[in-house]
Amino acid sequence: MSGVAEDGGCSVGRPKLFADSMLGRLALWLRILGFDVAYEKAIDDEEIVERARREGRIILTRDTLLVKRRWVRENHIFIESDRFREQLREVVSVLGVDEARFLTRCVRCNVILEDVEKEEVKEEVPPYVYSTQEAFSRCPVCRRIYWAGTHRDEMRKELERILDGG
Ligand SMILES: [Zn+2]
Repeated sequence: MSGVAEDGGCSVGRPKLFADSMLGRLALWLRILGFDVAYEKAIDDEEIVERARREGRIILTRDTLLVKRRWVRENHIFIESDRFREQLREVVSVLGVDEARFLTRCVRCNVILEDVEKEEVKEEVPPYVYSTQEAFSRCPVCRRIYWAGTHRDEMRKELERILDGG
């Protein structure tokens, strides 16, 4: 997949992650921040470990039994809080944030968005959006169109609230 090269493999500051099935909301917000986060709603521990190993991902989990497993012991970030805002702060305090990667990834599919020409999306976005926005990108998997503007501004504000401890 093209996303692999853009992520630069497993550079120290930006490891690939695997959120366990209890951490769906955290996974979504980490994707908004641009992290490569695998997540499945229905997946057992065995499969999480297997996939994380194979794909070189660090496991995010609150499961004290899971982190005792041999490979997992050295390859996880333990999440203390059961509230997603604090969870997000916990991960960011370890891995940091890179503003340049903000909203570069599809929050549903976890793949890097592709820039598209404005003309190409004319039939797919509301007329108001088309007439007021210039930059559009598309998820190569689900085809969802992303653009700047209020949606992005609101997310950024919410994110600032979260990271500031609000
Ligand atoms: Zn998508």
